[in-house]
Amino acid sequence: MAMATSPHTLLLKNPNLTPLKNSIFNNPITTTTNTNTRFNLTTKPISIKCAATSQTQTPIQAPLQTQSHQDRVFNFAAGPATLPEKVLLKAQSELYNWRGSGMSVMEMSHRGKEFLSIIQKAESDLRTLLNISDDYSVLFLQGGATTQFAAIPLNLVNPNDTVDFIVTGSWSDKAFKEAQKYSKPSIIWSGKSEKYTKIPSFHDLEQNPDAKFLHICANETIHGVEYKDYPSPKNGLLVADMSSNFCSKPVDVSKFGLIYAGAQKNVGPSGVTIVIIKKDLIGNAQEITPVMLDYKIHADNNSLYNTPPCYGIYMCGLVFEDLLDQGGLVEVEKKNKKKAEILYNAIDGSNGFYRCPVEKSVRSLMNVPFTLEKSELEAEFIKEAAKENMVQLKGHRSVGGMRASIYNAMPLAGVEKLVAFMKDFQATTSFGISASLQ
Ligand code: PMP
Repeated sequence: MAMATSPHTLLLKNPNLTPLKNSIFNNPITTTTNTNTRFNLTTKPISIKCAATSQTQTPIQAPLQTQSHQDRVFNFAAGPATLPEKVLLKAQSELYNWRGSGMSVMEMSHRGKEFLSIIQKAESDLRTLLNISDDYSVLFLQGGATTQFAAIPLNLVNPNDTVDFIVTGSWSDKAFKEAQKYSKPSIIWSGKSEKYTKIPSFHDLEQNPDAKFLHICANETIHGVEYKDYPSPKNGLLVADMSSNFCSKPVDVSKFGLIYAGAQKNVGPSGVTIVIIKKDLIGNAQEITPVMLDYKIHADNNSLYNTPPCYGIYMCGLVFEDLLDQGGLVEVEKKNKKKAEILYNAIDGSNGFYRCPVEKSVRSLMNVPFTLEKSELEAEFIKEAAKENMVQLKGHRSVGGMRASIYNAMPLAGVEKLVAFMKDFQATTSFGISASLQ
């Protein structure tokens, strides 16, 4: 087993040395910091040895700035999903020493002034992006959207209250099932018999007269159906799971009692869940509500009741800044529409070689499920695409086929490359010259 010598070992052996050429401290991202001065000591060399006893270490990766675009794949994963390159580079440049604070965001006290400035800026940028009024609280929570499936009925209704659900796919179905534990939900429409390929016209639906809220999933990540207009419930509030289309287009927040979203698709890494809730709905949680699920606790403490997912919130903040830089959600939506159009056109124009089962008027701009007419070619499609650096195209295990998730951060170039690949794949396999298939 080779013994590895870490840069730390060398520096500690002779602190008089200016840091070595290959030291991580010479990494361009740290040159603006004064970390090097720590080693500009005049003390005698010390003989502390902290040679790693581990196996040979993997070399420290070259900083991303020096890597070419080719080093990154086009990642079509449904979430965690691709993040804007600019945001990753910015996070990288601030990773070691956040804006001269001498600390990484990961090391900061969540109650210190540095982190407070980060969370406040993230909230204020999100308010600007979605035009959220002061009537609403914005909460940065943990536990994923799945935790909200329980938190919502626990906070908004009593155990015997009726609530309505429109079930357009797996996620609204899961939300419905969890709500059964804390309320009396009823499904007023389900797309199950049509394999979740539709969204109902709201005018034709009958709500329960005493329903306290209507729950919808704005975009079903697995099935690829997305609301184009949001319903106005006749009874109760509108509650929406926007996990997979959050910040992908402008939304009139004032139509909703509550919007929730896991961050890991459009706005950041996993670990952060955002809840936007009308303030007058806060403070009526059922008695059994765990403290961590009580919106009042989090609203009263500005999302700092306990240690929040600090680094994730910081990353969301960088994404919000980036979305504002792009011109806000009106511009972002234009780009998303263009990407989706190119992909759906390629599917629809393939003479049935590729198929998207979703009704055209409600196809998602974010998650595009498709199948191959010859389903036996699907594994080959996914394998060949991966060779071309297009990864995570396999459909959800419950649905099969393929799924291309093309969230905000998926560049147009990624979709264009996928479409070109699809055309090539069709031509190649149609002429029977795919070597591995002969
Ligand atoms: N709702 C939707 C629409 C989702 O896509 C997901 C995750 N894929 C969830 C809820 C569950 O989110 P989490 O894994 O963050 O709990």
